[in-house]
Amino acid sequence: MAAIRIDGKAFAARLREQVGERAAQFSDATGRKAGLAVVLVGEDPASQVYVRSKGKATVAANMASFEHRLSADTSQQELEALVDQLNADPAVDGILVQLPLPDHLDEQAVVDRINPAKDVDGLTPVSTGRLALGLNGLVPCTPLGSLMLLKDQLGDLSGLDAVVIGRSILVGKPMAQLLLDANATVTIAHSRTRDLAEVVKRADIVVAAVGRAEMVKAEWLKEGATVIDVGINRLPPEPGADKGRLVGDVAYDEASEVAGAITPVPGGVGPMTIAVLLRNTLVAAYQNEGLDMPELTL
Ligand code: NDP
Repeated sequence: MAAIRIDGKAFAARLREQVGERAAQFSDATGRKAGLAVVLVGEDPASQVYVRSKGKATVAANMASFEHRLSADTSQQELEALVDQLNADPAVDGILVQLPLPDHLDEQAVVDRINPAKDVDGLTPVSTGRLALGLNGLVPCTPLGSLMLLKDQLGDLSGLDAVVIGRSILVGKPMAQLLLDANATVTIAHSRTRDLAEVVKRADIVVAAVGRAEMVKAEWLKEGATVIDVGINRLPPEPGADKGRLVGDVAYDEASEVAGAITPVPGGVGPMTIAVLLRNTLVAAYQNEGLDMPELTL
């Protein structure tokens, strides 16, 4: 039987709508809009597209968007001065520095400088530490969005075997922490894992965050597994086309014959990332005002 296609796009639209409603309530209560500042250094085309769509989504969710575009030769000092300025600005609730930064800049030092109360990307040592300790805090958007899709699909994750492929700070590690918090039994696999196919075969939940086109095959999967495909990879263009197709880290068509449910690429995890960024900005805004945020009911 073909797997259920997990519609991240529809879920993300519902999340954005709820965040937008709560954001309107926030500005009624406080007399100001929740604000997200996005910092882009350089002219990387993919980053420019992300920053533009984040700005549009922020405004559509009744929040204020502040875009800071700096030239590729910006110094570490200038960038850190901007972060300091945003940390001190009461109109800014969330700060996102679009990564990767140009090579001459020290990414970790810039991220470390962000006030943890405004760390909507969840990448500062404070946010990362709070997640490891199981304390409330701002959590990276892509793994949190993936967890929301999993809970929507499966309900309680207690006792389920989960395999996360990838151990990056941005996706793999926080994903594993979130699954552990949800009482799954978690294995983290990576490039040195022996017999990956065998490891994946045990899993009720597979989260692939590798960056290798269609690496996870149908025969690796347990019958009925729930598969979250975080990967975004562009295939080489077909003859006559100027761009190749976008695919995930999972061979979607064949995996759909074995999995119980699976996210497509595009239209799965991708749309959740921006929706959760808006959610995190609103959470930060309520916290920064010392107010309780009305529950989201997704
Ligand atoms: P990274 O490159 O930082 O991490 C990739 C991870 O995959 C590493 O831990 C690496 O292992 C592991 N890996 C590489 N090759 C293999 C292999 N052959 N077998 C097993 N594991 C392997 O990537 P990110 O975590 O930042 O991103 C992963 C993917 O998710 C990318 O395609 C990215 O574009 C996508 N992405 C999508 C987002 C969205 O919104 N949907 C947001 C963020 C990322 P090791 O540590 O040993 O090197």
